[in-house]
Amino acid sequence: MYQKMKGTYDILPKDIDKWLRLEKTIRTVSKIYNYKEIRTPIFENSELFHRGVGSETDIVSKETYDFLDRGKRSNTLRPEGTAGVVRSYIENKLYASNASIQKLYYMGPMFRYERPQKGRYRQFLQFGVEAFGSNSPQLDAEVISYAVNILKALKIKDVEVHINSIGDVESKATYKEALLNYLAPNINNLCTDCQKRYTTNPLRILDCKIDKDSEILQNAPKPLDYLNNESQSHFTETVAYLDAMKINYKINKNLVRGLDYYTHTVFEVNANIDTLGAQNTICGGGRYNNLVKSLGGPDIPGIGFAFGLERLMFALESLSFKGDPDYLHLYLMILGDEQKADGMAILNRCRLGGLFADIDFLDKGMKAKWKQAAKLNTRFVAIYGANEKENDVINVKDQETGKEITIDKHQLYNHIVEELMKPSAACESCKEDNCDECGE
Ligand code: AMP
Repeated sequence: MYQKMKGTYDILPKDIDKWLRLEKTIRTVSKIYNYKEIRTPIFENSELFHRGVGSETDIVSKETYDFLDRGKRSNTLRPEGTAGVVRSYIENKLYASNASIQKLYYMGPMFRYERPQKGRYRQFLQFGVEAFGSNSPQLDAEVISYAVNILKALKIKDVEVHINSIGDVESKATYKEALLNYLAPNINNLCTDCQKRYTTNPLRILDCKIDKDSEILQNAPKPLDYLNNESQSHFTETVAYLDAMKINYKINKNLVRGLDYYTHTVFEVNANIDTLGAQNTICGGGRYNNLVKSLGGPDIPGIGFAFGLERLMFALESLSFKGDPDYLHLYLMILGDEQKADGMAILNRCRLGGLFADIDFLDKGMKAKWKQAAKLNTRFVAIYGANEKENDVINVKDQETGKEITIDKHQLYNHIVEELMKPSAACESCKEDNCDECGE
């Protein structure tokens, strides 16, 4: 028997509705924010991730799924979404379209060869946002509020934004010098990766999974103290907009995104839900004003974030999040082989009209058929047997009222639609104004 690969999981039909609801909520909020979906390939030229994410990041140096195709080209399953979206933005010249700003989102699987644990998989789902074409702090604030409002739309209440600024290129250079001076006497006390990073990209030392909480790094100079005037005002304006929108945030001076291309705002969104434990960072993002240019495009700024959907689902499960309930309008019981062709025609007519409808394919007995109809949460059960065929009629039972009638078989669709349009029994006696059910 084959088993799924380590670090992967199946979403079974019983769980699909909650995933669909999660995706639908994300798409609705995206529409509200006027962001459009982009779908890029699951694999790209390996070089894109080396350049776009950075050869020294763990996700590229240790965690990628790489393969040579039959043309001996090196391919990589995408470990994150930004590099592919930026590649597509440049290749398709989206910057040249009438709208000078492009506000995009993506949703789909990412692949990292990590040690699997709860909330950490080798194939996992990310929803991410990338907005190109403006350096306005308003856009920083919009993107942060977008992430927060998705959590609000999902009724996750205890949400906290951690925000910091690493400044523009000039501020980063000043800060880098201060950091190198500070680390010089201490570098041998950090891990071997950090010792390498000291010469290749010292900012990444601050992201180190091993040394992150060490006293040396906790006491290191902070990027926020090295911002030039322009970077300082970008940050001040961003948080002022967050204040105006009443978004709950904390300035976290230790938060960095070590990648070369990050500039100005960096942020994370945490959800304080017990089941998430230490993995309570649901979303990470930041401004990357140098990325488009460094991947061969024009000098256009960008900002984005990515959500891990599994962690979001864990959070939602602890809040009893459920999908929309499953139901059928019609379950058709066809009795006898001679009635099957007519039965399929009746079923097809109802489905073309938009009714959710099904039949029993296993020729089971009546008792099993009724059981199945109930299990499928069916409103109307219709029976079509030899008697009905002879008289051109069909027998219909409304499972909600228990009412049973025999009607012209060609009228089944109309009958069901008319009945569905009537207020439900509960609503007939409903005295409420603006009732959700009947709308009266
Ligand atoms: P990152 O791209 O590393 O900034 O991750 C963004 C978000 O994706 C994280 O906050 C997690 O929610 C999620 N994530 C990252 N790696 C994994 C993984 N291996 N399994 C599940 N979720 C992940």
